[in-house]
Amino acid sequence: MAERPRVSVIVPAGMGGLDAGGARDAIARYLETTGFTFEILLPPSPSYGVALRRGVADAAGDVLVAIDCDLPYPLRAIGDAVAMIDSGATDVVFATSDPRRHEALALTTLLVPILPDPSLRLKAFSSSAAKLVIAETKMAGQTADLEIAFLVNKYGFRVERLAVETSRGRSQRYGTLTALLAGLRIRMSDRRMAYRAARRCPVCFSPEVWTCAQIPGNVVRACKRCKCRYLNQFTEEDGSGPVRRVLPSNVPPPDVPEERHSETAREKTSARRLALLRKQLTARARVLEIGVREGSFGMAASREFEYVGIDSAPTVARHARSRGLEVYCATLSNFVNTGPAFDAVAVFHVLENMHDPHDALVRLKDLLKPGGTLFLTTFDTESLLYMITERKAMARNFRTHRRILYSRSALIELLEHSGFEIDAIGPEFEYRDHKVLRHVLGSRWPLLAPLARALLNVLPDPLLVGSGSIRIVAKRRAGTPLNVRAIRSVEPTHAR
Ligand SMILES: [Zn+2]
Repeated sequence: MAERPRVSVIVPAGMGGLDAGGARDAIARYLETTGFTFEILLPPSPSYGVALRRGVADAAGDVLVAIDCDLPYPLRAIGDAVAMIDSGATDVVFATSDPRRHEALALTTLLVPILPDPSLRLKAFSSSAAKLVIAETKMAGQTADLEIAFLVNKYGFRVERLAVETSRGRSQRYGTLTALLAGLRIRMSDRRMAYRAARRCPVCFSPEVWTCAQIPGNVVRACKRCKCRYLNQFTEEDGSGPVRRVLPSNVPPPDVPEERHSETAREKTSARRLALLRKQLTARARVLEIGVREGSFGMAASREFEYVGIDSAPTVARHARSRGLEVYCATLSNFVNTGPAFDAVAVFHVLENMHDPHDALVRLKDLLKPGGTLFLTTFDTESLLYMITERKAMARNFRTHRRILYSRSALIELLEHSGFEIDAIGPEFEYRDHKVLRHVLGSRWPLLAPLARALLNVLPDPLLVGSGSIRIVAKRRAGTPLNVRAIRSVEPTHAR
C-alpha cells in the first residue's frame, strides 16, 4: 500500500460534456513535479454538492483541493492553494479571478463577508476543515459553495482568498438572486439547527458564536448572546485530537508605545485604585493581587495593608521581591494560600488573559473570606470607546496573550453565577501620558490629532482618561454557588 497522500484533489463533475479524465492527467503530471504525494478523486455524481461531499468523504490527504475540471487557470494555482494550507497560514482558501470584486451587500450581510467566487470552483481545505464543513453541507447544486462559506465562519476556520488568473471570461454558476435565495435557505436551516452546533462560547456556553474578525494567524470569535470576543485558538487544548499547527500568532509586536506608561502614570493609577479599595477594607486587611506587573499597586498597598502578590512571570516576581514585596511566582491555578483567607483580591486587567473564566472565578472566590471583596478591572466590549474603535483595533485588542474580552453584562452574569454579589460597577479611568495619547490619537484619528494636541497642551500630564474598561467591586457571597456548568447541554458540538 502506498503511503498516505498529502494532497487529495477532488474533481467534482457536473460540467456537462467536459473531460474530467483530461483534467486528471494534467493535474497528475503537474503534482508529480511538486514532490507531493497525491490522489485524484472523480466522485461520480452529476450534481456538484453531492460530488463534493462524496469526494471529501473518500479523501485521505492532509490538504484537500476542489478544482474546475476545465482548468481555466495555470496549474500552479493549485500548488499555491495547497501551499497556503500546508504552511498553516489558513484553514480554507477560496480562489477568485477578481480579488477586487464586491459582493452584493445584501448577500454578505445575510451570510458572511468572505464568499467564494461564483465563477470558480478552486478551493483548498485542511483535512479537518473539509471533513467538518463539507460533511455538514446539505445543498446539491452550485450554491453548496455558499453553504461552505457560511459554515467555515460558523465553525471558526480561517479563510483566505487566492487571486488566480483565468484564461477567459468565465460565466458565473449562480446569479445574485439565486445566491440570495440560497442564503435565506441556509439561514433557515441554521435556525432549525440542521447544522451541527459550533464550539460554544467559553463565557456563557451559547452556541450562537461567529467569526467577527481574522487577525494575523488567528480568528476572533464573537458571542451573540453575551457579546464577548475571544480568540479561537486555545493552545492548552486537550491533546487527544489531531495535532493542531502552532499558528504564527500572538507574537507581541516589538514596539508597543501604548504599554509604556511612565512610572508617574502607573503610580497615579495605582493610587486611585487603592483609594477605591480603601473604602471597602479595614486597616491591615489581607490583600492579594493577581498579576503584579511592575509592582506599583503592591508598593502603595503594602504601606497600609498586608499585601501578597502572585505573578506567573519569574522575572516580574523577582523584581517585585527585590522591592520588598511579598510576591510569589505562581498562576491562579497553582497558587496555594498558606495563610488566612484574604479580605480582598485585586485583579487588574488579568481576567482577559485567562482561558477559563469560570474556573478562575471559583479559585478567586475560594481565596476570599465570605464577604471578602473582589476588585476587578477588565475591558468592556459594551463600552462606547470599545465599540467605536473595535474594527480598527481588533488585532491590537488581542495582542500578546489576551484571550477573552468581556461585555459588562457577561461579567455581571458570570460573577453572580460564580458566587459573587455585585457591589459597584462603573467605567475604569486610568492615567495616560500625553506622549501615549498623542500616539494613539495620531494613529487612530489623524484628522483630529492637531486639535487634540492643542487641547493636551493645557491639560495635566499624565491625564486621567476613560480606557474603555470597566471596574467591578463584588463581594463573595456565603453559601453554595449556582452550578453554571449545568446549562451545558448534551447537544453535540464539533470537536475542535
Ligand atoms: Zn457568550
